[in-house]
Amino acid sequence: MYPAGFEYFAPATLEEASSTLERFEGEAKVLAGGQSLIPLMKLRFAAPQALVDLNRIPGLDGLAEADGALHIGALVRHKTCERSDLLRGRYGALGGAAPLISDPLVRNLGTVGGSLAHADPQGDWGSVMLAVGAKIVAVGPAGTRTIPIEEFFQGPFTTALEPAEIVTEVQVPDPGPRAGGTYLKLERKVGDFATVGVAVHVSLANGTVGRAGIALTAVGPTNLKATAAEEALEGTDLGEDAIRETARLAAEAAEPRSDVRGSAEYKRNVVRVFTERGLRAAAETARKGGR
Ligand SMILES: Cc1cc2nc3c(=O)[nH]c(=O)nc-3n(C[C@H](O)[C@H](O)[C@H](O)COP(=O)(O)OP(=O)(O)OC[C@H]3O[C@@H](n4cnc5c(N)ncnc54)[C@H](O)[C@@H]3O)c2cc1C
Repeated sequence: MYPAGFEYFAPATLEEASSTLERFEGEAKVLAGGQSLIPLMKLRFAAPQALVDLNRIPGLDGLAEADGALHIGALVRHKTCERSDLLRGRYGALGGAAPLISDPLVRNLGTVGGSLAHADPQGDWGSVMLAVGAKIVAVGPAGTRTIPIEEFFQGPFTTALEPAEIVTEVQVPDPGPRAGGTYLKLERKVGDFATVGVAVHVSLANGTVGRAGIALTAVGPTNLKATAAEEALEGTDLGEDAIRETARLAAEAAEPRSDVRGSAEYKRNVVRVFTERGLRAAAETARKGGR
């Protein structure tokens, strides 16, 4: 099916992009990689009056560490993350997720910013960013603001963004030298959305867990932060007992539904098993100094 008619804008600045969005009063959409928006338009589940294409705005595709954080520009593609050496070890939750997103065609065009703005509960980046405690930087008519990731997802396909706000970058705080993380995903076949995904991250301080991040994909109305599990792990020595108890609590935090991908009970058990496996891998990396 062809999409409904729409106007197309390719602004050269963020100000121009934001004012164009504002002019359409919620009836225009940002276009980044188009990997979610275009299929929705072709199915006529979305029929925006206008598209505001970000791809000609310079400076949105940087991926670098600076000022105590990793900065991921809104137009950084999944493929760039997959190939980045920076996203291994200490940032292993990010590097682990990137190659598991769909297939090479989608990864070539799809963006981290677009994935987060789309807020699909089956999206992989949402859980990763919850686990690493990211912040979303957005610019709009009222200026620039920073939104903690815990406040960003408000429901399925719904975020804290105002209609004329644009995500410009994602910031991941430096986890320190003794940190590690990973992302584990169960999919029916390569390239599929997750049946279950689990993102884990740990930072060690004086031999115990200083900060733990655990978040779940496809087992709730949004990506879910397993807060009780994180709290149970913090302060422990990351030993087997602590890992097992944390995994039990993560499984308890899941809100899975039975569907063609599996029963709720099965998915909950996958959360438990993946949390255990993920934490063992993260512990090994963290103890080796994030390498
Ligand atoms: C076949 C297929 C399989 C897929 N499998 C997976 C998978 O396994 N895991 C996974 O996580 N994802 C998967 N995806 C989704 C993919 O990752 C998309 O790339 C991603 O969800 C959206 O990123 P995008 O840059 O393409 O955004 P677009 O499609 O351009 O936009 C998506 C939405 O976000 C908004 N938006 C985009 N950028 C911004 C911004 N900077 N500021 C404000 N709003 C913005 C748009 O207005 C739109 O509403 C799949 C997609 C396809 C087509």
